[in-house]
Amino acid sequence: MNMVERYFMACEQAGRPDVQAETYYDWEDYHRPFSLLLEEELTWQECKEMVARVWAAYTHTLPPVLKSLPPCAGASAACRQYIKLAPHHRNAAYVLHETAHALLYLRWPVSYRADKGRMEGHGPEFARIHAEIVNAEYNIPMSTIVASMRKKGIKIAFRHEVPRPLKERR
Ligand SMILES: [Zn+2]
Repeated sequence: MNMVERYFMACEQAGRPDVQAETYYDWEDYHRPFSLLLEEELTWQECKEMVARVWAAYTHTLPPVLKSLPPCAGASAACRQYIKLAPHHRNAAYVLHETAHALLYLRWPVSYRADKGRMEGHGPEFARIHAEIVNAEYNIPMSTIVASMRKKGIKIAFRHEVPRPLKERR
C-alpha cells in the first residue's frame, strides 16, 4: 500500500458501504447547473480561499490544510485536518465536494474511528451539506439543487442532521 492509499484508508468517512457514491458522482458530472462548477477552474490561492470561506461559515476553528497531491493521483480526499487535491481537481466542484466531506467531521469531532458506521461517504448527510455550501457559494437555489438530486434518486438528510452554519446558531 502506498502513501496515498494509506491516506485514503485513514480518511475513509465511514465503515458503512458507500451505496450512493456512483449515483452521486454521476449527478455531479451531468446535472446542470451543478456540472458547470467543474468548468470553474481556480488558482491554488482561490482553492484555499474557498475552503477557508466555506469553513468559516460553520466554525471558528482553523480550516483543513489544503495539500496538493502528485499528478499521478487519480482522486482527491478529505478529512478534518486535510483536504488533498489532485492537480486536475482545482475547480469549484471538487473543492466544494471535499470541503463538504471535511465539514461533516464537525458533527462527530472525536475521531474518524468514532464516526465509523454512522455515516456513508456520499450518503444523505453528505448530500445535504454539499447542497448547502453550493447554495451559499454560488447562489443556486436550494430548491433547484434538492430537486435535481431527488430526480436522480439521491437521498438527502434533514437540516438538523448536519452541522449548522454559525449564523443559524446565534
Ligand atoms: Zn467524495
